[in-house]
Amino acid sequence: MFRGVIDMNIHEYQGKILFKQAGVKVQNGIHCKTVIDALSAYDNLGSKVVAVKSQIHAGGRGKGNLYDPKTGDLVMEGGVKIAFSREEVKKYASNIIGRKLVTKQTGPEGKIVNNLYVESGCAIAHEYYLALLVDREAKSILIMASTEGGVDIEEVAENTPEAIHKIWTHPTDGLDVKDAEEMADKLGLTGDSKNDLVSMLLSLSNMFVEKDCSMIEINPLVRSESGEMIALDAKVSFDDNASYRHPWMDEMRDHSEEEEVEIRAHEHGLSYVKLDGNIGCLVNGAGLAMASMDVIKLYGGEPANFLDIGGGATRESITTAFGIILEDENVEGILVNIFGGIIQCDMVARSVIEASNELGLKVPLVVRFSGTNHVEGKLVLDNCDLDVHTSSTLSEGAAKIVQLTRGDK
Ligand code: ADP
Ligand code: MG
Repeated sequence: MFRGVIDMNIHEYQGKILFKQAGVKVQNGIHCKTVIDALSAYDNLGSKVVAVKSQIHAGGRGKGNLYDPKTGDLVMEGGVKIAFSREEVKKYASNIIGRKLVTKQTGPEGKIVNNLYVESGCAIAHEYYLALLVDREAKSILIMASTEGGVDIEEVAENTPEAIHKIWTHPTDGLDVKDAEEMADKLGLTGDSKNDLVSMLLSLSNMFVEKDCSMIEINPLVRSESGEMIALDAKVSFDDNASYRHPWMDEMRDHSEEEEVEIRAHEHGLSYVKLDGNIGCLVNGAGLAMASMDVIKLYGGEPANFLDIGGGATRESITTAFGIILEDENVEGILVNIFGGIIQCDMVARSVIEASNELGLKVPLVVRFSGTNHVEGKLVLDNCDLDVHTSSTLSEGAAKIVQLTRGDK
């Protein structure tokens, strides 16, 4: 749903595999699942100093804390540790794997760490910040960089916005080498470091387009003591709606990092977005989702979620979608807004009835059909035993569901 806004996140170690393929310099590293893995990674890397890094889909790991998930006791401060010996690797890996990491970005509930990355230690001369994002207004990719890396970039943006430098790629020609060079100059880079940065920016902007990224953030990007520019962290996310173009995306998906309902929705070809309100919405298509949201808000309501059943929904996927909406405790009313095309409204009507009978419908339901078989769809609903209101326009439907969830008749 909200096509183009849903992101699929991957782990740092996966981002670094993609960086390496794209020609961006990274340290050697090995993905681990166990303490034994971590020790053999240490032996294989051949570096005395290594970084032992918790892998979760959230940043701020270095400054986070690890807790025992059962007792809640603090196990270790810092989810990214520098180990100077095999013993330290063992200690840190044992303290990380299976523990709960709480960072500024995870919220107090934290995330269980199931993956670890052991990578060669880097002698850092300076930490920079680098990010690539989609700039919808400029219809191109915005590249932001700063000499103030390694710290909270939000703080830099707020207190010293002039310390963040920006360049844009050309919508069709990609990144201009001159702009990349100018960025290197602004960061005060010279010689090999400057060449490294320019080639890195070109590689990253190509990767961004090729892989349908929605964001790449490298914090820190470091200049090593030997003058190399190395991506020491990697936060990469993709536009999930492009995943059909990239079969490898599904292999990179870490289901343990996603909410169970999101996984279920994904498996049935549905897009699910959780929001803060109390009106559950079942729609087909992103435009319709946006319009539904606007109109619900116009009448003073707030959506609890959106389930976009897409263009090729089946009876089964609609039943699943309806089930997901019904099990959300915040839902006090449901608006179904379907524009029939390939999807036939009467099929949707029968699926909605089936799901409601199966799962029990305890909240008001308003259905707006238009397009293919909308008359038949309305007939099916009007003749069923459920307490369902039908309407032929979105504004009437939205007004009705807002009124019903408020409790006034
Ligand atoms: P997070 O942003 O989640 O805290 P990072 O990957 O940025 O995690 O790591 C935190 C800090 O740890 C970095 O800013 C850097 O100073 C240090 N660090 C990370 N990887 C290495 C490494 N391979 N060698 C040396 N220091 C590292
Ligand atoms: Mg970082």
